[in-house]
Amino acid sequence: MRPELVVCPNSECGASERIGVHSLKERRYKCHSCGTTFAETTGTPLFGLKHPLWLVLLILALLAQGCPVPAIVFAFGLDERTVAEWQLKAGRHARQVHHQVVCQGQVDLGQVQADELYTKTQAGPVWIATAMSVFSRLWLWGAISWERDAALVEPVIAQVRAAAQPGRPILFAVDGFKAYVTCIVKVFRDRQPTGKRGRPPLLVWADLHIVQVVKHRVGRRLVSITRQLAHGSLETAEAIMQATQVELGCINTAYIERLNATLRTWMPALVRRTRTPSGARDRLEAALFWTGCVYNFCHVHATLAGTPAMAAALTDHVWSIDELIRYRRRRE
Ligand SMILES: [Zn+2]
Repeated sequence: MRPELVVCPNSECGASERIGVHSLKERRYKCHSCGTTFAETTGTPLFGLKHPLWLVLLILALLAQGCPVPAIVFAFGLDERTVAEWQLKAGRHARQVHHQVVCQGQVDLGQVQADELYTKTQAGPVWIATAMSVFSRLWLWGAISWERDAALVEPVIAQVRAAAQPGRPILFAVDGFKAYVTCIVKVFRDRQPTGKRGRPPLLVWADLHIVQVVKHRVGRRLVSITRQLAHGSLETAEAIMQATQVELGCINTAYIERLNATLRTWMPALVRRTRTPSGARDRLEAALFWTGCVYNFCHVHATLAGTPAMAAALTDHVWSIDELIRYRRRRE
């Protein structure tokens, strides 16, 4: 039990200090400010589960690393539905934590890479769109759809904008999928007050640059890569790329492709069979956000000497899985 991570659930108290262990056997804490005793899962999305928190956290850590559900079911003698329920609860929580920590206009994005991956799951084949900031390796958002269309990338670009610190230069490196350019230019616009009557015109952010990286293949063999400026200035785009990428080279989408390769390996085994397509989508999304959040907040990146969230100046320390689960969400 970790009293230092716990906040008193008494709404009139809310103390984060002077919390002690009330009963190890019953797994309860006590707040010495107001005298309340409470279960270890109180105030977390895992409240009311019939298993000890340490076991749930262990399973969630395994899930975040792509451990297949059947392996967990076999090793721990758990019901598949139980594991699926924990995953769903943790994933929904992670999505809100991510939104409240990452998508608040605080991130100096620099170079953003966006990409889609196609993967077969037990619920059928799906498209997953994701985006990341290259400098910090911060995973920015992800969306799931049965089709590769504009509706797949729009929510991702909208949340990238929500995360972006206004006024800072941004370079998007995207693949040849046309929906990106249209969507980015539409989303990164603000109304400019003109001092005249009527609706002010929408202006695209001044320091926004988009480069399409298109791969030409014959069969599976990569023949050539072309880079095409779709918006902004190529000179500035190159400068942002040089400043944000540790490994120098041409503008590319290698970083997001590496992250997506990891997701592609992990996702199929993460989701159990579901009866309805919407149920499958919810579970996939939960799995995606759980994996993405643990990657951002808990996973120390070898070249960053910290987590992506630390590199993006969103936090000053490595979070434990326990801390991520205990993060107190504001109501949305
Ligand atoms: Zn209290």
